[in-house]
Amino acid sequence: MSETAPPGAPAPTAPTAPDSVLRDPGFCRHATGRVAVVEWEAATGWSEPRIEPYGNLVLDPATLGLHYGQAVFEGMKAFQGADGSVSLFRAADHGRRLGLSAARLAMPEMPVELYVRACTELVAAEERWVPGGYGQSLYLRPLLIATEAEMGLRPSRSYRCVVLPYPADPCFGSGFRPLAVTVASDAVRAVRGGTGESKCAGNYAASLLTRTAAQAAGYDEALWLDGLERRWVEELSTMNVFFVRDDGDGPRLTTPPCDGTIVRGITRDSLLALAGDLGLPAAEEPTAIDDVRDGLRSGRLTEVFASGTAGVVVAVGRLGLDGGDLLVGDGTEGPVTRRLRTALLDVQHARTPDTHGWLLPVTGGAGATAIEGGGRHA
Ligand SMILES: *Cc1c(COP(=O)(O)O)cnc(C)c1O
Repeated sequence: MSETAPPGAPAPTAPTAPDSVLRDPGFCRHATGRVAVVEWEAATGWSEPRIEPYGNLVLDPATLGLHYGQAVFEGMKAFQGADGSVSLFRAADHGRRLGLSAARLAMPEMPVELYVRACTELVAAEERWVPGGYGQSLYLRPLLIATEAEMGLRPSRSYRCVVLPYPADPCFGSGFRPLAVTVASDAVRAVRGGTGESKCAGNYAASLLTRTAAQAAGYDEALWLDGLERRWVEELSTMNVFFVRDDGDGPRLTTPPCDGTIVRGITRDSLLALAGDLGLPAAEEPTAIDDVRDGLRSGRLTEVFASGTAGVVVAVGRLGLDGGDLLVGDGTEGPVTRRLRTALLDVQHARTPDTHGWLLPVTGGAGATAIEGGGRHA
């Protein structure tokens, strides 16, 4: 992308020829050469979006965002359709959620229209970086951070939003290998009235110690319980959780309700809607960890899976609990998990009609570059 970099600008991290990257992008290993930037100043409000070369942020060490944690983010995807066109998935919903995350930290809410425009302009500019394989996407990571430098606890009077684009496979891989998850027995991720619903940087910092210990013990992730009773299942560190139960009358889907302590996943919401379309009974329902244990032992809890933009829909095959491990079914991916993931990806890649109006077309098929051999069908 050197042609876009002004003299003296930091070198973009991305290689210039994307084909090798697009064939095997991994998750957020390669940023494209450009970002979208929107700024906010107390005096002037929001700027227009700019597309700029990827480069370092230069921040004064007294920057408020670094000391007091005013930093929120999103994770959103652009997909290539079968005809080569590129669309953003539920862009306005991600924009709304960024606003809610920001408001919780006394940060300004970017107008949804501006958020969508910044992301659309970036995807249009970086269209040739959108991989074409099933499940692949251009992952967008919008970050909003306080940039004013002055010591003292108060909301910043300036902010910068940078949208980072990455060609990406699903974050746990395109094979959707079932995850091993262990219940967080000591630490708490969120309590009611706290920031659990906000995609704010501090929530992830608070999860790292537990998550890293889980990974050192051979698990992929930690499963968080509520902070008061330590009884109700909430979510994983970056994904929501679903349960499939079968009491003899067919499968039924549940997921914990959003009561302020878990992130309102847009994938979660999409899956609840798709379950309705598929005629699968689905409900938001509190789930006690004791019922999970009993259900796995009796075999009535047939599937557990995680959902999120980055990982899509991934089975949980093994659950660490009380110092032991319980298999979910036989430990492999179940049929409901697979069916819901396929239903979601089929909408995202425009293989089935977009009856919910979730896709925002960014570019038509004509200029798009479908990558031969880049397809990875699940
Ligand atoms: C982002 C996130 C999710 C999933 O949200 P999606 O909108 O589906 O990507 C779930 N839980 C946490 C903690 C998250 O940060």
